[in-house]
Amino acid sequence: PKPSYKWHRVLLKVSGEALAGDHTQNIDPKITMSIAREVASVTRLGIEVAIVVGGGNIFRGASWAGCSGLDRASADYIGMLATVMNAIFLQATMESIGIPTRVQTAFRMSEVAEPYIRRRAMRHLEKGRVVIFAAGTGNPFFTTDTAAALRCAEINAQVMLKATNVDGVYDDDPKLNPNAHILDTLSYHDVTTKDLSVMDMTAVTLCQENKIPVVVFNLNKPGNIAKAIVGEKVGTLIGG
Ligand code: UDP
Repeated sequence: PKPSYKWHRVLLKVSGEALAGDHTQNIDPKITMSIAREVASVTRLGIEVAIVVGGGNIFRGASWAGCSGLDRASADYIGMLATVMNAIFLQATMESIGIPTRVQTAFRMSEVAEPYIRRRAMRHLEKGRVVIFAAGTGNPFFTTDTAAALRCAEINAQVMLKATNVDGVYDDDPKLNPNAHILDTLSYHDVTTKDLSVMDMTAVTLCQENKIPVVVFNLNKPGNIAKAIVGEKVGTLIGG
């Protein structure tokens, strides 16, 4: 029998910013490789892992909208395409170390990746493949955090693991207040009322309505991704 871990199926959200690290290019290959290695170590244990990648290291729609007549929807489509680049990079890295990985995009790019098909994604996971969801929700005006919450609910993942460049959620801005400290746990209500800028409201309310706990943790600390996936205490737990 398989040993039992806290979660059977998880949704890992990797922001674009986290992929860049302090590399001068958009993506730091050392980071994608460390994600791949840690994900490999937990899929070997039988835990199913789906990933939603962001695109902020390449293009953020909201910051470009308005420039040279670029409307928000067009800018957001460019942002969604950016997430596909990250997804393919991550897939190639994972497959280079032998992890079977599928990319599914929220809008069709069938020469490059599978289209998002919920039941097919779940089947891949059951077979031990990692599934990377790209192109966000496929709709402008949303974020990849919202896409992560949505996919998490759709595929019945038990938790959303939000990998970031910070150790967790602080009670105050650590750049301004040296006494700010990391919170162990937090309610959804705290996140929406205290302006803690953890993620956007749409994503938070989607998690709250579907009772999806969210773990916010630092992916730059070696071992953290694997720890978060097996359910060891790391970072801040929201709503759990
Ligand atoms: N985006 C979008 N709809 C979605 C997800 C993303 O339009 O469902 C666009 C949006 O322009 C966003 C960009 O893709 O700025 C990159 O995603 P995000 O900013 O969420 O990436 P992250 O912050 O995780 O790097």
